[in-house]
This record gives sequence, structure tokens and C-alpha cells, in this order.
Amino acid sequence: MANLGNYTNTSEILRKYQFRMQKKYGQNFLIDANILHKIVEAAQITEKDCVLEIGPGIGTMTQYLAESAGRVIAVEIDKGLIPILEETLSPYDNITLLCADILKVDLSALVEENGGGPLKVVANLPYYITTPIIMALFESHIPLESITVMVQSEVADRMQTGPGTKDYGALSLAVQYYAKPEIVTRVPASCFTPRPNVDSTVVRLVKHKEPPVVVEDEAYLFSVIRASFNQRRKTLANGLANAGNLNLTRAQVEQVLEEMGLPGTVRGETLTLQRFSELSNRLLQIRA
Ligand code: SAM
Repeated sequence: MANLGNYTNTSEILRKYQFRMQKKYGQNFLIDANILHKIVEAAQITEKDCVLEIGPGIGTMTQYLAESAGRVIAVEIDKGLIPILEETLSPYDNITLLCADILKVDLSALVEENGGGPLKVVANLPYYITTPIIMALFESHIPLESITVMVQSEVADRMQTGPGTKDYGALSLAVQYYAKPEIVTRVPASCFTPRPNVDSTVVRLVKHKEPPVVVEDEAYLFSVIRASFNQRRKTLANGLANAGNLNLTRAQVEQVLEEMGLPGTVRGETLTLQRFSELSNRLLQIRA
């Protein structure tokens, strides 16, 4: 029975192993059973599912996941947590525990080793690397069904928003290219120990079967997007012409913007994903 989702049992196990929280690893452990239930429910886990959990901590959510899923792969960077996890996860025989940095794990090999089937990712993410983790999951092109994760509220808002808002940027476009984001629930700081000094939100990203736009070269699209938001206060034309990796002259950029009916002063934050894909396809044709 999952028994860690409260302050008493969490602090007891931390004391037993004299574990010292590592701020550098973004360690804020969940101590609210209600939120844990909500996350597992939102992820729609069944016994047919293989779940990848990033950062199991002391195994709080891992226990819930193991009780609903067929298999759980839990990847934890902090060696100091492994003896704790070995104890808290000992009642379960469907968990593979890996001590590694998720950003260095060969995700395709991990999927292969675990049957090659589709994966659901569920995690209370370390906030210092939320975006690199989400991008690595999408860009690895592993068979991914959904990602249900706790993130900083500000990041959740950036994932969801559209053009013309202050939060709109490269992350919004990348997430919306790969998935449909939805907010599951807001989570107050009192649901963690120690309390984070930011608000948190659970989001669910359901992977599109096909990307919503036609793109000739995905990597080039993302280079165009990054260049467009690199210098936020500059015009789109400047951002693109100054990005060495795009191989574009200013004249070529200006020509494409004109062909698309966009003024020379246009800024990246006004363009939809559809317009970015059109822009990237045209720039790809014209580049040196
Ligand atoms: N899942 C636990 C919970 O909800 O109570 C812990 C969540 S805590 C916010 C983030 C966890 O991610 C920590 O256990 C931390 O050590 C781990 N972590 C941090 N960086 C990591 C990385 N690069 N790869 C794998 N795990 C990481």
C-alpha cells in the first residue's frame, strides 16, 4: 500500500536514512495524497501501461504508479536516494530503478529494453531542468503517449499560451507542435516538503498522432523558432538574419517576409505555429 504521501511518513524515512535534501537537484517531495491521486488519475494509467517516472525521490509517486501500471521505470540522479528507494519500493515487483541523469539516458535503448511499447511519462519534475527534459522526451521520438508532469505554474502557462501574450515563446511552440497541453490542477506550495518558493501546476501533454502542421525539416523549424525568440525585443528579421546556423542573408529574410505579407518590423511573438512552419519551409528553400 502506498504510504508515503504525507509529512509524517516522509520525514520519518528521511530521518531514518539521515538524508539531506539537495537543492541543486530540485528536491521538493510531495506530501499530499490527494494531489498524488489526481496526478495518477489524470495520467490515465492502466495495468497495460509502461510508465517512465523521472526523479522518484523517496518513491512517493512511484508507489502509486506501481499500483496502477504494468511496469514503472524510475530514473533518479541522486545516489543518496537509492537505499531509501530500495526500501520503499521493496513491496513491488514491477519497478525498474535506474540511478542516472535523465538527460544522459539513451531513451530509445531504455524503451527497447522494456518491451519497445508506448510509454507514459509521469513526474514531479526537477524545476531547474523542466524544459530540457520535455524537449529531450519529444525530440528522442520514442513511442510516447502522454506526459503528465508537475511543473512551475509559469512554465505551465507558457506551454499553453498562444501568440500575442507575454508568455508565448519557443516552449509554447515546441509543446504545441508535439502535443495538446491541458492544465490538470494547480498545486499549492504546502503540498511539498520543503516548500518551493514558486507555485506549481500539473499539466498533461497528449502527444499528437501527426504534427498539426506540415514541416519539411523539423530541426530547421526549431532553429528558426529559437532564433526568432533569442532577441525578444528585436524584430523577427534581425533575429533570423543574425542567426549564423540558419545560413540566411538579410536580403533573403526580407524577401521571404514580404512573400508572406509580413511587415519588416514583425516580431516572433505574433506568429502562430502555422505561420512559423510556413516561414521555415520558405527559408529552407531560399537559404544559401
Ligand atoms: N517524485 C518525488 C516526489 O514527487 O516526491 C520527487 C520529486 S523532486 C521535485 C525531483 C526529483 O528529481 C528529485 O528526486 C531529484 O533528485 C530528481 N532529479 C533531479 N535531477 C535529475 C536528473 N537530471 N535526472 C533524474 N532525476 C533527477
